[in-house]
Amino acid sequence: MDEVERASAIMAAVDEGFDMQLALTQALVRFPSIRGAEQTAQDFMAGLMRERGWAVDRWRIDLDALRHLPGFSPVLSGYEDAINVVGSLRAERPRGRSLILNGHIDVVPVGPLDMWTRPPFEPEIREKWLYGRGSGDMKSGLVACVAALDALKRLGYRPAADVHVQSVIEEECTGNGALACLARGYRADAALIPEPLGEQLVRAQVGVLWFQVHVRGMPVHVMDAGSGSNAIEAAYELIHALHRLEARWNAPERRHPHYAHHPHPINLNIGKIAGGDWASSVPAWCVFDVRAALYPDQDIAEARREIETAIRDAARANRFLANAPPEIVYDGFAAEGYVLSRDEDASAVLRRAHQRSFGAPLSEIAATGTTDARFFGLYADIPALVYGPRAEAIHGFDERVELGSLRRVTQAIALFIADWCGLEPL
Ligand code: ZN
Repeated sequence: MDEVERASAIMAAVDEGFDMQLALTQALVRFPSIRGAEQTAQDFMAGLMRERGWAVDRWRIDLDALRHLPGFSPVLSGYEDAINVVGSLRAERPRGRSLILNGHIDVVPVGPLDMWTRPPFEPEIREKWLYGRGSGDMKSGLVACVAALDALKRLGYRPAADVHVQSVIEEECTGNGALACLARGYRADAALIPEPLGEQLVRAQVGVLWFQVHVRGMPVHVMDAGSGSNAIEAAYELIHALHRLEARWNAPERRHPHYAHHPHPINLNIGKIAGGDWASSVPAWCVFDVRAALYPDQDIAEARREIETAIRDAARANRFLANAPPEIVYDGFAAEGYVLSRDEDASAVLRRAHQRSFGAPLSEIAATGTTDARFFGLYADIPALVYGPRAEAIHGFDERVELGSLRRVTQAIALFIADWCGLEPL
């Protein structure tokens, strides 16, 4: 078979398996694998890998083994149930380049159920889309990795280099799942992460910082509200100060070159808020959770200092907070930004694969979110390509992935594996 014939055969094999791929994706979406509840979904992934005869490594993440590593994000929650799964297919006679296929099993909370057309964990195919929480972000991508390898197997091949399929936890809050794979020793010549970023290659991604702001107040009866201090209303002032900092970071002169033409690269989100105990009492406490983005060249410690200064200055302007300064607690993402580099060979192979399956050139984006790619690129010198299907409403209601896009991306992944790793007969 010449190269063109082989590519056509691989694409046809993906098509042939596509119904089965969708069935597996739906089965995976049925597991409500939000943070702390990923185990059954991980069991399912380990089962898929075992059925295929891959070597399965399933372990509980030990935080103490990660704490000292670059890229670690602090966590306040327990890790008793934090399970990673990696399936490895090792080549008989390795001669190609090895590969890590990485996806995250965790999904974000669903929000109010009455905002969903269908229950979020009851996946449904409707008009060329698969719906469900995690359908886009990123269970379809994770299953696509398995399906791409299945397609090669259907043709009587396996990769001619080691391939590790990683199903990791906590991409959505720390990245410590991917970090744990590095700490366990997994390495390869390239990594591919099929996050649902619209069939484009991610050239740059922002960093992400999570923090909580704890605000105190002075409780009095509302009759004497003037003599108290309202922690919830004081929190508004701090939130405004944070948004002013966000505006300064978005100023054109402050932008990183990869984001020079992006209208608003840095997004600061107040994601959670709680406070007060009683409608007729001036609230004595308020806690809000923030997600802030950083540029790839922005130092985390320096960004934290700017955030702390913004909060401190706003607190100084408040009569009560001046003497009871808010406390900032770092819990979750301490993620540096990342620019894909030293990737010429891997990107060239992906460009060819994409061109074959889509019949159009691969475009690149600078993403305004983070992915686990940073671990491979920044801390292990492994070029990490983020490339996955088109999805809509990820983190929103009626999350969905487009089936045609998923099929073509799976073809591109299979072609990438064949070209990057080479193939050997089964
Ligand atoms: Zn994701």
